Amino acid sequence: MSTLKAVRGTRDLLPPETELWNHVEATARRVFGHYNFGEIRTPLFEDTSLFARGVGEETDIVSKEMYTWEDRARAQSEKAQSLTLRPENTAGVVRAYIEHKLGDTGLLQKLFYIGPQFRRERPQKGRYRQFWQIGAEVIGPISAGSESPLRDAEVLEMLATFLNELGIEGWTLEINSVGSATDRPRYIAALREALAPVKHLMCEDNQRRAETNPLRVLDSKDPNDQELINNLPKIADYLDEESKAHFEQVLAALDACGVPYRVNPRLVRGLDYYTRTTFEFTHGGLGAQNALLGGGRYDGLSENIGGPKAPGIGFAMGEDRLILTLQAERQQTATLADYYIAPLSIAQNPAALELARELRRKGLRIEIGDGSFRLKKSFELANKLAKKIILLGEDEASTGILTVKDFATAEQTKVARAEIV
Ligand code: AMP
Repeated sequence: MSTLKAVRGTRDLLPPETELWNHVEATARRVFGHYNFGEIRTPLFEDTSLFARGVGEETDIVSKEMYTWEDRARAQSEKAQSLTLRPENTAGVVRAYIEHKLGDTGLLQKLFYIGPQFRRERPQKGRYRQFWQIGAEVIGPISAGSESPLRDAEVLEMLATFLNELGIEGWTLEINSVGSATDRPRYIAALREALAPVKHLMCEDNQRRAETNPLRVLDSKDPNDQELINNLPKIADYLDEESKAHFEQVLAALDACGVPYRVNPRLVRGLDYYTRTTFEFTHGGLGAQNALLGGGRYDGLSENIGGPKAPGIGFAMGEDRLILTLQAERQQTATLADYYIAPLSIAQNPAALELARELRRKGLRIEIGDGSFRLKKSFELANKLAKKIILLGEDEASTGILTVKDFATAEQTKVARAEIV
């Protein structure tokens, strides 16, 4: 029989690495809590049409990367339905916002999520088919201030704080404005015009993009096309007064709180509903897949999937990549238990469990002996797993005085059981 393995592009997360994952998630919950965000958990799969409409039919994600299947009807009353494992979480959050009429509260909704996403991409370091995202969305009616540039700046400042609290240094925030829904067609028309005489000099991908989605030419990494791309018109020159003012206010707020950024006029997101602020945090240590997170404003998304007008801004962060960055910066070792309790005969097993129970209730991390009841082996194992060993033999049982050895100091002492507990 062939051995079964985790499917290509998926992986098991094992201790001690999972401790790092829990640390990252606990930090996200704590930091986002300071900004008064609440957690949302949406289903792992949704109706396929949500992503077709909410992410965009013409994107790589929807056109070639989704795990989609026909969920067959199980009763006459049911209809077969096309379902998809979520490739991202914003569409699900906005669907929930609409479904639960969260806009009717009149309040701004500040929601964060942590969970797996699924895309059928070519796996490589930092790119998986099941990967985790930590993300957040700020969405609500205009009357709740959802369009304010302060929202954009607050989200960016929160991200800077989160990365700094994790101890991730050396990140770069790149930011741009892609303008309003009316700025965009004017800019795209100008792009098409500028691309027409030069596109035949570009790589095949860019020639195709120049036709289908000229904005995407801007984020091409093809080294030979860079000079041509740098000479294309800049979106900043096509922003209306309102979009310009919005962008300036976002930058002024970032300046005021000292969050460093770099305006990158080529940072665009190829989807129709993205508006105004777009951003990305990158980290040099990640290699080819250097994007830690991306996000932006999506003032038209709710309407796009049949909801009320509900401007919003959000981001999605690659948790796998956060972990890679943290692992590169620190050496991780397994956490040692506080005590290893070694029963020296089978008769001491119940007493070992009882002592372990009492110490665990005090919040200590306890490992219990291996059942060999051999002193030398107990010491060897304990030295790998714990900071100290407690011996439980017949003497200890009758006197209530336990032998404790501290591996850091190599000191061995007799301590009353009551004192330890
Ligand atoms: P996106 O939803 O494409 O804007 O991606 C947001 C973030 O999710 C990226 O900046 C990455 O950090 C992370 N990400 C996206 N796709 C993958 C993947 N296949 N594997 C690991 N992380 C990913």
